[in-house]
Amino acid sequence: MPDKPTFLTRPYLPPLDEFLPYLAEIWESRRLTNGGPFHQQFEEALRQYLGVPHVSLFTNGTLALITALQTLRITGEVITTPYTFAATTHALLWNGIKPVFVDIRRDTCNLDEELVEAALSPRTTAILPVHCYGNPCAADRLQQIADTYALKLIYDAAHAFGVTVDGRSLLEQGDLAVLSFHATKVFNTFEGGAIVCHDAKLKQRIDYLKNFGFADEVTVVAPGINGKMSEFQAALGLLQLKYIDAAIAARLDIARRYREALAEVPGVESIPVAEGVKSNGGYFPVLIGPEYAISRDQLYDEFRRNSIFVRRYFYPLISDLPMYRGIASAAPANLPVATQIARQVLCLPIYPDIESATLEQIIEIVSKSR
Ligand SMILES: *Cc1c(COP(=O)(O)O)cnc(C)c1O
Repeated sequence: MPDKPTFLTRPYLPPLDEFLPYLAEIWESRRLTNGGPFHQQFEEALRQYLGVPHVSLFTNGTLALITALQTLRITGEVITTPYTFAATTHALLWNGIKPVFVDIRRDTCNLDEELVEAALSPRTTAILPVHCYGNPCAADRLQQIADTYALKLIYDAAHAFGVTVDGRSLLEQGDLAVLSFHATKVFNTFEGGAIVCHDAKLKQRIDYLKNFGFADEVTVVAPGINGKMSEFQAALGLLQLKYIDAAIAARLDIARRYREALAEVPGVESIPVAEGVKSNGGYFPVLIGPEYAISRDQLYDEFRRNSIFVRRYFYPLISDLPMYRGIASAAPANLPVATQIARQVLCLPIYPDIESATLEQIIEIVSKSR
């Protein structure tokens, strides 16, 4: 008889009875969306929690990414990573922009900043890196390159909620940073997202763009989209914020447990957290090397036989998907590190209320298969 299945993540939710008063308020006021009171409160609370200058809420991270590119009027070619979720590069295609893939670094799984300059062309207008698994990109170097070549720098920070480097929010890096509050992320509003920016004028433009371009009842200043977060999502977000520190602490405990238990297993490499980084425990990726007795996919199957549905994030590479593989920079020969990591990676289940028996079973499966 199969065990109760375990998935990569189990969305974190507050106690239901604490959410009911928020719902009662929405029902009473009939303010359902369009920047209502919960939207305003959540935006401000999030700005303070994250320690960033400005936040614009969105109904999901993908619309936030698409709008971030519109905000800075990005066109032509954009340098990005193949080792990410499809939404990163799909947002480029939705804007008629050509992605130019650059390989990643093995130690962080992020865009290799030292390969960026060689990939620039006269059509390059921006760099779109991803803080993969919440591991910080080499932000100073990337900013230096962006400044040198007058490029915009937009971070896909979907994995980076609450991550700090030397006490400062990672979300302050670049011209814009985009968050996702999807159910599977560290912090969720069922669906949701946000753009972090540095100045009030830019926030104003983002806020017009996410509301069809409306500046007032009769003035439309840009061909905007509908990216607005509803009051339901905002109210949930406000309540989720009360529990997020505890949720992240629980995730970090699990990550520590995995790290200790797997340190001695030959052929299993976990990705280090760099000095000065406060991680959010969003993911626990391991790389299955050639010294390991079975292949990554055999280990993946072994987990499935035990009803544990681990994920190969990120396999396949985005550059191998049909809508991208014709691009010259998508060639595997251009992306050797990403290609190898995509073959080796396995993300182990991590979520605040994972049962310790499940955790031990996962560790046992990795340890015995070697
Ligand atoms: C989740 C995710 C997104 C998309 O966010 P949604 O809120 O699901 O639209 C974008 N980029 C990365 C790297 C993600 O993991």
